[in-house]
Amino acid sequence: MRDSVRNRVNRGVIAAGKEWSRGISEEENGEGKRKMEAYGEKIRELALGQQDYAVRMRREFHRYPEVSGEEWKTRGRLIAEIEKMGLPYEKVPGTGLIAVIQGKKPGKSRVLRADMDGLPLKEERENLVREKVCVSQTDGVCHACGHDAHMAVLLGTMKVLCQMQEELSGTVYCCFEEGEETNCGVDAMLKALEKYPVDECFALHVYNALDAGRINVVPGPRMAGTVGIGITVKGRSGHGSRPDQAVSPIIPAAHIITQLNSAFMNQLNVEETVTLGIGMVKAGEATNIIPDTAYVGGTARFFNREEGEKALAVINRVAENTAACHGCTVAFEGRHNISPYPGGQ
Ligand SMILES: [Zn+2]
Repeated sequence: MRDSVRNRVNRGVIAAGKEWSRGISEEENGEGKRKMEAYGEKIRELALGQQDYAVRMRREFHRYPEVSGEEWKTRGRLIAEIEKMGLPYEKVPGTGLIAVIQGKKPGKSRVLRADMDGLPLKEERENLVREKVCVSQTDGVCHACGHDAHMAVLLGTMKVLCQMQEELSGTVYCCFEEGEETNCGVDAMLKALEKYPVDECFALHVYNALDAGRINVVPGPRMAGTVGIGITVKGRSGHGSRPDQAVSPIIPAAHIITQLNSAFMNQLNVEETVTLGIGMVKAGEATNIIPDTAYVGGTARFFNREEGEKALAVINRVAENTAACHGCTVAFEGRHNISPYPGGQ
């Protein structure tokens, strides 16, 4: 059966709800259980103590967004907070950052990961109801994906963990990863983490389809992997009155977009979710000039790496052959690739 994103959400919310009601109601009331509940209550209280801090930090990050790979001021602000906590940290090449919280008890090494980048998008001053409490101060850039919240949540979590350092088992590596939107930071972060013995890795993403106060956890992949699409179709420019003397890259670019939809429909496994989103088409500057190049950019998202790899192969095949049909060639940009994604379930 096709496991749609909606199904995943519904299943995950129900599972989380069951776990919670089991946790507070049932007969499983042995010593270990009571201890866990007391521990959970303590964490809850400490977390609530950081709520104002997290809200304040979220709004600050929201006011000053930076696009992928340019999060220099954002990192500076994070470092200021991490230094106030007295934690050691290392800068990852680019704008990423890893702070280390060493527990006083032996235990596993865990990664907590947050993204940092905003999107090249103008923010409206009002939401659906009223004027927003805080709005981006940078024209044309905003935290539309919620990565401001991710940083604030991780900073709040770090403060709680610092307060629990005496009883904390193992080491926590708090990773702020640059450029999630373009995948420009993931390789540097993975490389920087190679020297640490990482046992487990946790991350979250805000999701506006979920009621406030609820979380969603499912077994297996939860967040989709990404295939970046960045295709430049190369032709030869000429005057619009003599298309026969030029090689238009616009015609094959248009065909590539429609061919991709048909090829995905017919060639990818119908039982796996693979989306296709074309977000950029750029070509030409004048109505009567055929340009040299046309650009098609987007992403495909998947939950099964094998299917993601297949999607990338389909995209490449369609792009190269469609361009060739019209006497053009293609060049793929750096982000035209599949992002690292765990295999299996
Ligand atoms: Zn995001």
